[in-house]
Amino acid sequence: MNSATTSYQQLQQNLSDLKLEQMSLHLNEVVDFSVRNQVTLIDALLKLTDHELHTREYNRIQATIKAGAFPHLKELKDFDFTFQPTINQQQILDLATLRFMEDNKNVIFLGPSGVGKTHLATSIGITAAKRRISTHFVKCHDLIQQLKRAKLENKLERRLKHYTKYRLLIIDEIGYLPIDAEDAKLFFQLIDLRYEKQSTLFTTNVNFKGWDSVFPEPKLANAILDRILHHAYVISIAGESYRIQNHLSQEIP
Ligand code: ADP
Ligand code: MG
Repeated sequence: MNSATTSYQQLQQNLSDLKLEQMSLHLNEVVDFSVRNQVTLIDALLKLTDHELHTREYNRIQATIKAGAFPHLKELKDFDFTFQPTINQQQILDLATLRFMEDNKNVIFLGPSGVGKTHLATSIGITAAKRRISTHFVKCHDLIQQLKRAKLENKLERRLKHYTKYRLLIIDEIGYLPIDAEDAKLFFQLIDLRYEKQSTLFTTNVNFKGWDSVFPEPKLANAILDRILHHAYVISIAGESYRIQNHLSQEIP
């Protein structure tokens, strides 16, 4: 074994000990490139460290997306705006800049089933996760079940804290299932904790006047709506369901 091989092997060992996996993986390629192109040591090191940094950044983004618990990975590029003309595309693109989060505003997608509320909410969530903003998607019913269980186990405060810490929380499908008085109080507690501190994105198929029937106590329904709507962008979507579009256009032979 000559000394050059030894120092190469030692370098590989050092990279491995320092957990610089990508630098170790790309070492041969970067050395080959540098020799061939007479690259300076600084430029070679820059290339090598870039590999490590890019991969780490990519992995962090993937971890944030995973923590987002999105129902699917559909993004804005997958959304056909021509199908839903009541949606102002510029408004959605503006939301995707996440400007609304700077002053902890909320967003509500309101409309009937199948018009793309969950798709758009998820797209915005993924955009946030890609910027490594802590984001989490949860269905309203599941959220309430979790808070309920936490209360039974005397862990409500911890659970509320958990849901308050996300910079962006997406609460999907408010109003699809009835919420009883006790559950409504738990929901209110979370909304109150996030109010003016963090942004929350909601989807619902029930217009605001109808929230009295979603939440049994009108006072509580008002208190919840008051906090949600105080600083909020409301996107009302009126249109056909994308899910059944193909079926609707089929004619009876
Ligand atoms: P909602 O939450 O309003 O009930 P979804 O967002 O779940 O509706 O949409 C239903 C399905 O149709 C999803 O698979 C979604 O990706 C798709 N979809 C809805 N609207 C569009 C659209 N305009 N362009 C592309 N896909 C759409
Ligand atoms: Mg939905």
